[in-house]
Amino acid sequence: MHTDLSISLLNPLISLVLAMSFYLLWRYRQDRRYLAALALAYVGSSAGFLLQRFELPIGLDLTKLFSIIIFTLATICMASAVVARFGRRIPLAAFVTLGSCGVAAFAWFMFVEPSLTWRIYMLNFAFGGICLIVAAEIRVIASKGQIEKLLLVLSTLTGLNFLLRPLIAIAIGGDYQSYEGMQSSLYWTSTVLSHALLSLLIALTLFAAEAQDAMRQLKAESLTDPLSGLLNRRGFEAKASMLLDSCARSNLPVALVIADLDQFKALNDKHGHAAGDRVIVEFSTRLRMAAGDRGVAGRLGGEEFAVVLPLADPGAARLLAEAVRAVFAAEAIDGLPPDVRVTASFGVAARSGDEGLSQLMSRADEALYHAKKSGRDSVRVSYQRRSEDPAGQSGLQTA
Ligand code: GH3
Ligand code: MG
Ligand code: MG
Repeated sequence: MHTDLSISLLNPLISLVLAMSFYLLWRYRQDRRYLAALALAYVGSSAGFLLQRFELPIGLDLTKLFSIIIFTLATICMASAVVARFGRRIPLAAFVTLGSCGVAAFAWFMFVEPSLTWRIYMLNFAFGGICLIVAAEIRVIASKGQIEKLLLVLSTLTGLNFLLRPLIAIAIGGDYQSYEGMQSSLYWTSTVLSHALLSLLIALTLFAAEAQDAMRQLKAESLTDPLSGLLNRRGFEAKASMLLDSCARSNLPVALVIADLDQFKALNDKHGHAAGDRVIVEFSTRLRMAAGDRGVAGRLGGEEFAVVLPLADPGAARLLAEAVRAVFAAEAIDGLPPDVRVTASFGVAARSGDEGLSQLMSRADEALYHAKKSGRDSVRVSYQRRSEDPAGQSGLQTA
C-alpha cells in the first residue's frame, strides 16, 4: 500500500474501532448518553479524515468544506461528551460559537480570499479553543482523581497541539498554496499522527474512567441494601468501624443504636410481605434522617437496623432513639389499614474505653433484648461495659 494512503487510513480506522467500542459500551449502559455521543464523535472523525483523502463528486473545495463541517461537529460532540461525563454543564454556546467561527473563517479563506494557510490556522485555532475550554472545565474537578488529572493533561495537550503545531509546521515547511502535495506535507503528516495518538490516549482514558465507574458502582451495590437503600451489614460494619476509629483518634464520644421492628412476623402474616417491605422502607427513611450526614445507618438484616452516632453520649443517643421510636409509632403506613401502627424496640450503647464495634454491638443487642422483654416499643440503654461490670450485668436503664 502506498505510504500516503496507509497514513490517511490510520485515523479513519482507529476512529471507527473506537466508535464501535463506545457504541457497544453504550448499548450495555444506555443510561450513559455520553458514550453514544463519543461513538458519534469518533464516527464523525473517521468520516472527516476519509473526506480529506477521497474527493466527492461535488468538487474538491466543497468536499473539503463538508469534511471540515463534519470535523467541527465531531469535535463539539466529543468535547460535550467529555464535559458531561465529568458532571459539568456543557458550555455548548461557547463550543458552537468557536466551531461556527472556525467553519465560517474556513469558508471565507476558501471562497472569498483564498488562502490555504489561513484556513489551516483558523480551523485549528477554533478546535484548540474548544479543547482548552474542555481543559478549563475538567480543571475544576481535577483534584477528584487520577483519571480527571490525566484527562486534564490530555485535553490541554490536544488544545496546544491544535494551536501550536500548525504555526510550527508552517514556519518550518512554509506557506501552502494549494492542496497539491498536502497529504505528504509536514503539517498534514503531523496532524494525522498527533491526532491518532491523542485520540487513542483520550479514548483509553475514557475507557478507564468507565471501568472505574463500573467498579465503584459494583462496590457500592455490594455494600448497599437494595430495599431500604441503607448500608447492608457488610457496608455498615466497614463504615461504622472507620467512624469508630476516627472518633477514637480524636478522642470523641460515639454511640450505637440498634433497632428491631416489633412483631414483624405477625405483621407480614396478616398484611402481606409487600406491606412488610413498605414498613422497612419507611422505618429506614426515619433512621437515615435521624442519623444525618455524620451518622452511619445500616440494615443489619431482616427487620434489624443499626446507627452509629459520632459525638453522642448515652443520653444523646437515647434521645435520638426515643425520637425515632415516638415518630414511627405514631405514623400510619401506606398500604396498611389506617388504624394499624407498627412499633420498634431500641438498644443503645455508648462506647466506653477502647471498645470495638463488636463489643459495642453486643451491648446494644443486650439492651435491645431487654426492651423486647419488657414489652417492646421502648428504648433501653446499656451504661456499662460488660468487662468492667464484675457481676456481668450491663447496667441497663429504661429510657
Ligand atoms: P420481635 O418483636 O420479637 O422482634 O418479633 P418479630 O416477629 O419481629 O421477629 P422474628 O425474628 O420472629 O421475625 C422477623 C420477621 O421479619 C420474619 C421475616 O418474615 C420478616 N422479614 C425479614 N426480612 C424481611 C423483608 O425483607 N421483608 C419483609 N416483608 N419481611 C421480612
Ligand atoms: Mg422484630
Ligand atoms: Mg429481629
